[in-house]
Amino acid sequence: MLFRSIVADTKYIFVTGGVVSSLGKGIIAASLGKLLQARGYKVTIQKFDPYINIDPGTLNPYEHGECYVTVDGHEADLDLGHYERFLNIPTTRANNITTGRIYQSVIDKERKGDYLGKTVQVVPHITDEIKRNVKLLGTKYKYDFVITEIGGTVGDIESLPYIESVRQLKWELGRNCVCVHLTYVPYIAAAKEFKTKPTQHSVKQLQELGIQPDVLVLRTERELSQTILNKVALFCNVEKDAVIQSIDVPTIYEVPLVLQRQKMDEVILRKTGLEVGPTPEMKNWNEFLAKKTNATETVKIGLVGKYVELQDAYKSIDESLLQAAIYNDRKLDLHLFHSEKITDENAAETLKDMDGILIAPGFGQRGIEGKFSALKYARENDVPCLGICLGMQCMVIEFARDVLGMKDANSTEMDPHTPYKVIDLMEEQKNVTNMGGSMRLGGYDCVLEKGSKVFDAYFKSHIQERHRHRFEFNSEYRDKFEAAGMKCVGTNPESGLVEVVEIPELKWFVGVQYHPEYNSTVVNPNPLFVSFVKAAIDNKK
Ligand code: GLN
Repeated sequence: MLFRSIVADTKYIFVTGGVVSSLGKGIIAASLGKLLQARGYKVTIQKFDPYINIDPGTLNPYEHGECYVTVDGHEADLDLGHYERFLNIPTTRANNITTGRIYQSVIDKERKGDYLGKTVQVVPHITDEIKRNVKLLGTKYKYDFVITEIGGTVGDIESLPYIESVRQLKWELGRNCVCVHLTYVPYIAAAKEFKTKPTQHSVKQLQELGIQPDVLVLRTERELSQTILNKVALFCNVEKDAVIQSIDVPTIYEVPLVLQRQKMDEVILRKTGLEVGPTPEMKNWNEFLAKKTNATETVKIGLVGKYVELQDAYKSIDESLLQAAIYNDRKLDLHLFHSEKITDENAAETLKDMDGILIAPGFGQRGIEGKFSALKYARENDVPCLGICLGMQCMVIEFARDVLGMKDANSTEMDPHTPYKVIDLMEEQKNVTNMGGSMRLGGYDCVLEKGSKVFDAYFKSHIQERHRHRFEFNSEYRDKFEAAGMKCVGTNPESGLVEVVEIPELKWFVGVQYHPEYNSTVVNPNPLFVSFVKAAIDNKK
């Protein structure tokens, strides 16, 4: 990627949302970022979440979907996963700020006496801290564009300090600051009409808070006519060509093209005083989409986990599998299996049609026995299988119980008194009492053994992948496992921790302590997923 970094002053784009939540602000931010990046600009995206938690690491998936992990070990909002998948550049802890972090930093400063006897208030102290964090990426890393997604919906009590900060920044930065507001235009079937009133109200609400949006993106399930767009422009004080529609598309990866067709990137360049230039080709991106469209055959992957009913709980895994299928010229046919429902008795019947099985990460006892049953089925029937984090730990436990005859072998997470602690708490975790941000988090090196499946996947021996766990393979048992056919083929060079196990005798049976799904993008799919899906396809033949 050629970085021009030609922009004298960083341009700041805010993405706010109105009418309802779940409109996909993250996808709009990522798509706009992609379009600007394709023009050679250096772009980053950050998310501000208005909740009090310091990070989403302590939230369960019912609250907040998947917890994403950055290379520098920050537990982050899942939108950062979209940013990385679209832009193909890593995010860091600076890309995700919460109200909790803002307040913590202000309170720390207050305790140090930094405010010199002043009363510490939301305006200006909290808003100043928000503004400092917005600008940090621009000033420190010299990005041309910093896109900031404001979580929540305009009108929420808790997002008010963020909206006020945007108002102040718009005033301070002038042309270098643009506000994109995302709303929803419902279609009332009985009246056969689109309704723009919610959008008008939402913009009014922003205006009451002192912000005139520069660009409106209207989410819609059906094509909006130019008349509707013009009407919104008129009522909302927005230029006609700055009212963009974002219609539902079969894949989120088409959204950048939908926006490009309406020249949203050009509108942004014009508003920020930059030269527009020729429309970029987006070659890799289009090739990926063409592959997706052209694939006719499918690959059936079964995902076994305890949160399968939640749309966003395994977001990065879903996306990594989709990318891997597309790069293997297949359509992904993903089947979700609730681990609590799988037993030794029904595993074969339940999973018999799967070309490959993925055992999901997780915490705690619930659903774990079903993971063992699924793994036993995969191992005994030589079905390609990928275990991720807890999934890898389950591979080890199931092997210990069934092959090594270690009855009641377990992880000390599930059973602290197990006679065989084949998975045990890491040494450095033993004295940890604070739950937030205290796991083994972020990128760690791993050395892969030549000749292993995992080496063949990455085609190199030194890799780095991201982690999020407290427990580890207990190396005391390493020799026993290896003698019986489960090999430790990836280790951390500093600590010696086992990061990868596999059964070489089987077609493809690999467990990884790390999370390859955090590191898979549209133009750079994770090799382990590509290899797993390929094995699943070969299994089908
Ligand atoms: N609960 C396990 C551990 O803490 C696995 C974590 C995970 O799957 N992310 O080690």
